[in-house]
Amino acid sequence: MKKVILYYKYIKIDHPLALKNSQFKVCKRLNLKGRVIISQEGINGTLSGKLADIEEYKKELISNALFSDIIFKESSIKEDLFPRLSIKVRDEIVSLNQKIDITTDGAKKGEYISPEDFHKIILENSNDTVIIDARNNYESYIGRFKNSITPNIDNFRDFPKVINDLKKYKGKKIVMYCTGGVRCEKASAFLLKKGFKNIYQLKEGILNYANYYPEDFEGKCYVFDKRVSINLDAKNRTIISKCRHCNEYSDQYINCQNKKCNLQFVCCNVCEKKFHHTCSLECIDIVIQVQSK
Ligand SMILES: [Zn+2]
Ligand SMILES: [Zn+2]
Repeated sequence: MKKVILYYKYIKIDHPLALKNSQFKVCKRLNLKGRVIISQEGINGTLSGKLADIEEYKKELISNALFSDIIFKESSIKEDLFPRLSIKVRDEIVSLNQKIDITTDGAKKGEYISPEDFHKIILENSNDTVIIDARNNYESYIGRFKNSITPNIDNFRDFPKVINDLKKYKGKKIVMYCTGGVRCEKASAFLLKKGFKNIYQLKEGILNYANYYPEDFEGKCYVFDKRVSINLDAKNRTIISKCRHCNEYSDQYINCQNKKCNLQFVCCNVCEKKFHHTCSLECIDIVIQVQSK
């Protein structure tokens, strides 16, 4: 049996490169694959491997005093989810480019909200509260929480650009969520810095919430690994997204077969065949030309 884990922690790291090197050794020894990003503001990782190796990794990570209280979101998987191991040092563990320091204890960021309280907010659907999806448009397109607002951003670093659209919610209680929590920490701190008040964030994100109330999430949850998306609620599978070509409901993402395009788009099985795995008439022409050479 295999497992995938996701984790993050914002904490001041004085020597990111040294941590990178020690992480690389541990992950290599345990045969783990995935992505770990290390910066002076913390660590953000997702790794998959054999059950015993993952357990060993968790033990090793929390034996470092900096990460003793780190929370792992985990799920069982059949096969490895990443082609390789990548451990990188970057300026930020998620890029927002806003000079926000949330590594200290007293740092201003959205107040944590538990799955229980988040669930109540969804049920109440009050006019005084707004739920904001802090993820990218292609993530919320295939799945999101009921009654949530989904800003139109291609990349997290564009979140500051939607601030004008969010200003109308300034008087309300704002509750944010993302996949595992790491983006909300920053997005919530950003909104506070911009004068918003009453900002909350779902602790440990959708993946943790799914252990309690999976039915509140509509559609599939986008994930940044081989699976592309996962179904959170085994009993009730809703599809909210539509095929790019025929507009029928579908929640399958594919990448355009024209390698120069490579667009990721929702495509039903019928259209996938019909359009030779491409996104458009332009791309289908290119692919057919290449095939006939
Ligand atoms: Zn279709
Ligand atoms: Zn294309």
